[in-house]
Amino acid sequence: MKRISILGATGSVGQNTLDLVRRTPERFTVVALTGGHNITQLAADAIEFQAELAVTAHEDLLEDLRAALSHTQIEVAAGATALIEAAARPAQWIMSAIVGVAGLPPSFEALKQGTTLALANKESLVTAGQLLMNTARVNHARIIPVDSEHSAIYQALVGEDTAAVSRVVITASGGAFRDWPIEELQNATLEQASNHPNWDMGQRITIDSASMFNKAMEVIEAREFFGFDPEQIEVLVHPESIVHAMVGFCDGGFMAHVGPPDMRHAIGYALNWPQREVLPVEPLDLAGIGQLNFQTPDPARYPALRLAREVMERRGLSGAVFNAAKERAMDHFIDGRIGFADMAQVIEQVLTQVSADNGLIDAEITLDQVLQVDHLSRNNADRVVKGMNS
Ligand code: NAD
Ligand code: MG
Repeated sequence: MKRISILGATGSVGQNTLDLVRRTPERFTVVALTGGHNITQLAADAIEFQAELAVTAHEDLLEDLRAALSHTQIEVAAGATALIEAAARPAQWIMSAIVGVAGLPPSFEALKQGTTLALANKESLVTAGQLLMNTARVNHARIIPVDSEHSAIYQALVGEDTAAVSRVVITASGGAFRDWPIEELQNATLEQASNHPNWDMGQRITIDSASMFNKAMEVIEAREFFGFDPEQIEVLVHPESIVHAMVGFCDGGFMAHVGPPDMRHAIGYALNWPQREVLPVEPLDLAGIGQLNFQTPDPARYPALRLAREVMERRGLSGAVFNAAKERAMDHFIDGRIGFADMAQVIEQVLTQVSADNGLIDAEITLDQVLQVDHLSRNNADRVVKGMNS
């Protein structure tokens, strides 16, 4: 029996993970499950999977969680420290599927116990890539990427010498507004931005897909996880979302990873690694799909990709600045204070303003510094938005 924990169990990736665990429960012991506001879901999952511990991120919901599990032996806890304790509980496999930088401290803690970390939380690598990779190395922990493009690259590299890699292509669906006239993007509504053409995911990553900020994050994620040079990483718009990534080698050959757009493939690969097991994904019907298309992304439509290049050039804490500005800009878009296209402007301004403080950017990266710069950048984003609205 493999002891597993799922951080962010009530979200889209968390629920897909549990869907796989449910199919072969005899293989797993569920240690800890964590969630946020959805106490009903968290309690139901904790009971179904006989978890040892259930944690909500919100201290004010502790009593609700306690009441929902009062007739069981399941331990309950709440708050940021409890999330870290959940990640520190001995487990052989931990899924990091909290959304946002909130997922970083638990990811970091999980690595300290030398476990296998299935990493969906891309914010961990974007904000603190080097710190995370070093922590994994020092503690003999393994990170298996769960973001579908990075799982694809990981799989394409099995048995290969990374020194022979010449380029990597990450594909992007183009998101909800791929075919919209650029001048109409500013008027896109929250509802329209929350609808992905191909993938069924949490709301925030879906909005990030429409603006291509998700792909910007993934380019940085690929640089941090695999150590590729920024200029080796390319992005192509691929509306069918069938080829998830391609790794090009020095001899001109490519290994492409092809599969249906279903996160259970990448999650299942990480869950079963180093084996492969049968997964509940639709068989690919390539003849039915007929053709696969690839296009260069339009830089005017997707300023996010240019900003990702700037972040990779500066490195240091600029990934933390970028991510915080992005998270905060999205909060303001969701709350109706700024338009869709304004998000990129807020992020660019914060990146320029906070990066001007060189001391901060050049500082040696510690978890505290990442969280400090995250806080500072959020405040900065709030000021930029205030300025836009005054
Ligand atoms: P989601 O919004 O569906 O779920 C997020 C989970 O995190 C929930 O369990 C929620 O309760 C919890 N959470 C939210 N805020 C929290 C906080 N402040 N503290 C602690 N827990 C909190 O998100 P998702 O779509 O499942 O994405 C999770 C992560 O995986 C993100 O980093 C995302 O970028 C990445 N990812 C998701 C997909 C996908 O298919 N959904 C694909 C690739 C990568
Ligand atoms: Mg992805």
